[in-house]
Amino acid sequence: MKPNTPKIPCPCGGWLELKKDKVVQEGIDCGMLNVEVCNKCQTTYLPEKSMLVVETKLKEAGLWGVERKEVKFWKTGSAVTIRLPTSLVRKLNLDQVEKGYLSQEGKHKLVIEI
Ligand SMILES: [Zn+2]
Repeated sequence: MKPNTPKIPCPCGGWLELKKDKVVQEGIDCGMLNVEVCNKCQTTYLPEKSMLVVETKLKEAGLWGVERKEVKFWKTGSAVTIRLPTSLVRKLNLDQVEKGYLSQEGKHKLVIEI
């Protein structure tokens, strides 16, 4: 690594190293992209430029934002509650789900895994 490479910390306490790697998302080969890999927990992060490439590839394959819906954000104290559309709740049986995982992708995207 070059001595002047800025170090990006990972939430686990490790450091992210920039490398090129083959990125496959939703079964789509997005090619060799810049990725940031943690030297401790091995989590791979996609920098915003790489995210855009992935987004374009998935859009071409019809796998991106297929069901884009509006959600409402409600301020409840210092936290925020997200209200999901009824159609989505029915489709995914979200009323049966008690817990999920939230992760941030880029600056303007949140992903909820259930
Ligand atoms: Zn880490």
